[in-house]
Amino acid sequence: MLRLPRFRIAFPTEYGEAAEMLADLGAAELDRARGTPSLRVMLVAGGTDLFPNMKRRQFTPEVLVSLARVRGSSRIESNGHLLIAAGATLTALSRNPLIRERYTALAQAAELISTPQLRNMGTIGGNVCLDTRCNWYDQSLFWRSAEGFCMKTNPDVVCRVATSSPRCLAVASADTVPALLALGAKVHFQDAAGAREVPIAELYREDGIRPTIVSQDEVLTDVTLPDADGWRSTYLKLRDRNAFDFPIAGVAAAVRWDGARVSEARIAITALGSRPLLVDAAAAPLVGSHLEDGAIVAAAEAVHKVARPMDNTSGTISQRKRAALVFTERALRSLRQA
Ligand SMILES: Cc1cc2nc3c(=O)[nH]c(=O)nc-3n(C[C@H](O)[C@H](O)[C@H](O)COP(=O)(O)OP(=O)(O)OC[C@H]3O[C@@H](n4cnc5c(N)ncnc54)[C@H](O)[C@@H]3O)c2cc1C
Ligand code: SF4
Repeated sequence: MLRLPRFRIAFPTEYGEAAEMLADLGAAELDRARGTPSLRVMLVAGGTDLFPNMKRRQFTPEVLVSLARVRGSSRIESNGHLLIAAGATLTALSRNPLIRERYTALAQAAELISTPQLRNMGTIGGNVCLDTRCNWYDQSLFWRSAEGFCMKTNPDVVCRVATSSPRCLAVASADTVPALLALGAKVHFQDAAGAREVPIAELYREDGIRPTIVSQDEVLTDVTLPDADGWRSTYLKLRDRNAFDFPIAGVAAAVRWDGARVSEARIAITALGSRPLLVDAAAAPLVGSHLEDGAIVAAAEAVHKVARPMDNTSGTISQRKRAALVFTERALRSLRQA
C-alpha cells in the first residue's frame, strides 16, 4: 500500500486568502534529482488526483492549501451566461438540469469521469488544472527510480517515450476541458495582487511538464460559459474500462443552429497530445452547412490530421487517431436537427 507523505494543511475561507497563502508560503522548487519534483505549497480541492500523485511521490508539498471551506466555491448560477465556481463537484455538474439541457457536452463529460465516489469529491477546478499523464510517469517512486526517472521528474533525463524529444509528451487527460473549449468557456483566476480572466482556448500549452499558463500562486475561482441559445453539443470518450478510466481519446462538438443551417461550430479534442485542442480547421466546413455527410467527413478529416497521440497511454496510436475521426463523425451526426 502506498502512503501519503507528511504535510501540513491550511483551510482558507476565501479565494483571496488562499492566493495570499500561496504567495506567502512560496513556490520554491525542491530537488528534482530526488525524484520528487515538488512545489513547497500546492492547492487541493477534492484531492482525487493530487492525493494519488502524492502517494506516488510525484509531488511532495510541505503545505496543502485546501479549497474545501472556501465560501461560495460550489455555486452554479445562470444569468444569461453560466457561472460555475471552481469547487462545484463533477456530480453537481452532471446532475444540473440547465447544464444537461443547454451545455450538454459538459454534463456528459462530467458524468463520464472516473467513479461516482470520485465524482462526488472531484471538482471542475481540479479537472481544469489536472496534471498530464503518462504510463512512464504515473508509477510509484520505487518503479520510477528503478527506471532512472524521466524528464518530467528530472529535466536532465530523457523522455522515455521519445528519447530525442526536447519536451515531455505526457497526455492532456481532463474530460471536461474539451467540452469547455467547444462551449467557449472563460476561466477566472485570482492571485495575491488581483484577478484575471483567460479564454480557456489560451490556457493550455503543448508541454507535458507545464501544461498551463497558470502561475503557481494563482487560484482558479470560476468558469463562465456564454449564453447557449441555439447551441447543441455533445462529448464522446474512448477509454479502456467504461467503469472509471481516463480518456485515451475524447471529442467534444458544439454547433449553433440558425434555422436549417449551422452558423457557428467548435470541435475540441483531448488525450490526443499534451494539449487539449480546439480544432479551428474542423469548424470551417461546418459553418453554413446542414451537417450533411460531406461537411461532417471534412470536419472529421481535419480532426484526424491534428490528432497526434503518442505511445504513452493505453490503446495504440492508430486506434486513438482513428477514434478521433470516428468520434467526430458520430458526435456531429448526433447534433443534426430532427
Ligand atoms: C481512478 C481515477 C480515475 C479517474 N478518471 C478520470 C477521468 O476519467 N477523467 C478525468 O478527467 N479525470 C479523472 N480522474 C482525475 C480526477 O478525479 C478528476 O480530474 C477531478 O476532477 C480532479 O478534481 P479534484 O478536485 O479532485 O482535484 P485535486 O486532486 O484536488 O487537484 C488536481 C490538481 O488541480 C489543482 N487545483 C485544484 N483546484 C484548483 C484551483 N481552484 N485552482 C488552481 N489549481 C487547482 C491542484 O493543485 C492539483 O494540481 C481520475 C482519478 C482517479 C483516481
Ligand atoms: S512523456 Fe516522456 S518525459 Fe513526459 S512523463 Fe512520459 S516519459 Fe516522462
